[in-house]
Amino acid sequence: MTDSDKELSPENQIEAARKAFEQEFERFARFTGDSSTLAGLDLETAVAEERALGELRTRHTGKKSVLAATKKLIGRVAPEQRAGFGQLVQSTEAALVQSLDLAEQTLKNYITDERTARESIDVTLPGRRPRRGHRHPITLMRERLEDIFVSLGYVIEDGREIETDFYNFTALNIPENHPACGKADTFYTTDGFALRSQTSTVQIHAMQRRGVPVRMIAPGRVFRRDTPDPTHNPMFFQVEGLCVDRGITMAHLKGTVGELLRRMFGPDTVTRFRPSYFPFTEPSAEFDFSCFKCKGSGCRICKNSGWIELGGSGMVHPNVLRVVGADPQEYSGFAFGFGIDRMCGLMYELDDIRLLFENDVRFLEKFE
Ligand SMILES: [Zn+2]
Repeated sequence: MTDSDKELSPENQIEAARKAFEQEFERFARFTGDSSTLAGLDLETAVAEERALGELRTRHTGKKSVLAATKKLIGRVAPEQRAGFGQLVQSTEAALVQSLDLAEQTLKNYITDERTARESIDVTLPGRRPRRGHRHPITLMRERLEDIFVSLGYVIEDGREIETDFYNFTALNIPENHPACGKADTFYTTDGFALRSQTSTVQIHAMQRRGVPVRMIAPGRVFRRDTPDPTHNPMFFQVEGLCVDRGITMAHLKGTVGELLRRMFGPDTVTRFRPSYFPFTEPSAEFDFSCFKCKGSGCRICKNSGWIELGGSGMVHPNVLRVVGADPQEYSGFAFGFGIDRMCGLMYELDDIRLLFENDVRFLEKFE
């Protein structure tokens, strides 16, 4: 018998197929024993082994396998050998399939058990909390201010951000030739409307709608043609306060601003007023408060002066009262305004207020 005869011999082909299978199946043999031998096998490996076992099954028992090819030889062997050969093919195939089935079943059971164990809920574990957002530092500051003024009997007014020249300037006693009206200071839409340059515009709307007496604050966005730098933004938040009634004096203004600052920065806070000029108030004053950080001895926040400048104020100009139909002989009032961003910058000791609008979550997260 030559080597090629040997290769062609159907019995030898079956023997070769069985040997090739056994060689490859060796690594899966551990899955045919007691399932406890699998302890410690991780789920991902078990799933990969199950897939590899399926591929092995296809290779050795599939339509293109050597075993399938030998089945086709059954009809070609000599009739007297046919039955014996047929039985050999059958028993070989049965042995292969049995090994495969056993290993596959063991793996399948193991995978099912592992998945169940993994998915079972441990009620003692902490849940996965969704990441919570929170309000912006300017919103938090605005709400603190609103709470204080509501407790003082003020209403909160909301105003439009785009205004006519009448509300942004004329009604506020700002003459047409005033530099604030120019395009160098104020943003204008192509239709000639102004983006309000101060929240004082809301005073006019509120007094026209509510009449006098009135006590209101108007927090909101304002716009000015400023080049952004660490202390300036072309868009920022202001809060405007207005109180008009019979017999309102500068003393009421000082008392109100003082009360606000004591509530914001502590009961020892001292307020001071410096004469100033604003078109819509007469007399006008800027107000400062004693530094909350160093209590007046001088530090970086107050630039060693002991005082922090905050806003502008004054007695409502008679022309403003006339515009809304209130008689300046009968009514008087005070108004004040300051920046919410500036107050945020001070309280949180920000070196650069532009941070407030850059929407960097790492920065904003600090203000929960
Ligand atoms: Zn200071």
